[in-house]
Amino acid sequence: MHGVYVSIPFCKFKCTYCNFASGVFPRAQLERYLAAVEAEIRAAEPVAADSIYLGGGTPSLLSSEQIAGLFDALHERFEISRDAESTIEAAPGTFDASLVGAWKNLGVNRVSLGVQSLVERELRATGRMHALATVERDLAVLRGAGITDIGIDLIAGLPHQTPESWEESLEAAASLAPEHVSVYILEADEDSRLGAELLAGGARYSAGDVPSDDVIASLYVRACEFLESRGLRQYEISNFARPGRESRHNRKYWDCAPYLGFGVDAHSYDGGSRWGNVDDLDEYIARMERGDSARASVEPVDQRRQEEERWFLGLRQNAGVALDTAGRGRFGQEIRRLASEGLLEFHEDRVRLTPRGRLLSNEVFQAFI
Ligand code: SF4
Repeated sequence: MHGVYVSIPFCKFKCTYCNFASGVFPRAQLERYLAAVEAEIRAAEPVAADSIYLGGGTPSLLSSEQIAGLFDALHERFEISRDAESTIEAAPGTFDASLVGAWKNLGVNRVSLGVQSLVERELRATGRMHALATVERDLAVLRGAGITDIGIDLIAGLPHQTPESWEESLEAAASLAPEHVSVYILEADEDSRLGAELLAGGARYSAGDVPSDDVIASLYVRACEFLESRGLRQYEISNFARPGRESRHNRKYWDCAPYLGFGVDAHSYDGGSRWGNVDDLDEYIARMERGDSARASVEPVDQRRQEEERWFLGLRQNAGVALDTAGRGRFGQEIRRLASEGLLEFHEDRVRLTPRGRLLSNEVFQAFI
């Protein structure tokens, strides 16, 4: 079955490390954007879906009526299974009990909180305004409304982070007893203000206080050990969950299952091709208002490419990839080389990353392209 993703690129402020197509836009644009997304959904091929994911951006900034409008369009167009996983991404301090009650009535059963750190100095340096108390209040509101799947995102590599402060964030995150935790490594690229400053060797946005690559790697390794010890099993390079609480929607990406994405910079895959929407908000709205397609690019995925993707996406997961005859024939030599370098290992009839391989995963994935 398909997964369905809806992009809500609106935020209250732009975090310095954020490299998503999101930002702070005038309110009037939000109404036009939602109308555009609903139009895109209503024009899509009707499919059966068992996961919905509202990401961003900050979907928790939408009112209950605005969210209901999106869900109406989704239910009109798609056959959504009764047990669908339905996730909303939320920023700490942006929702109350009445809004969460409305989400719950629409079938939302999972909330992913963009916490990033629970140490105030690190949060302030990146433009985030919440504190641990905000997140504790949010968890109480979510649990009170009956949301039983709560995820927390953390970032390793924020300015001012140290092994000690990382321990503080991990302990505080564990004290919240989430069902799911994601740990991302800070990305230094031109698409975020902090990333661009790091690449330029400057000091703005506290770039001079970003820990070294070696320290960031050790923070990641520590998170893996810590979360495992608290019952959150690693199931993907960046993701940890209590048994049975893995994200069904995100697994579709790594399992090469089909998914449809709607909104600015959203991506889709139907088994035969991948396509991406334009990443400029004004252009997206203009195209939809003209009745044009939102697609910026379409890439055919032939059988050879499918086999490559099965490996480099599948290897992200701790379960690894089944070593069948096709895989042995095409990648056998590379797999043996990476295993001899301690980056891959054989487990039963599967191949998976070693802990060191997870740290050097981009290097491993190159071998399958
Ligand atoms: S990190 Fe999240 S809240 Fe911050 S600007 Fe990016 S999408 Fe918005």
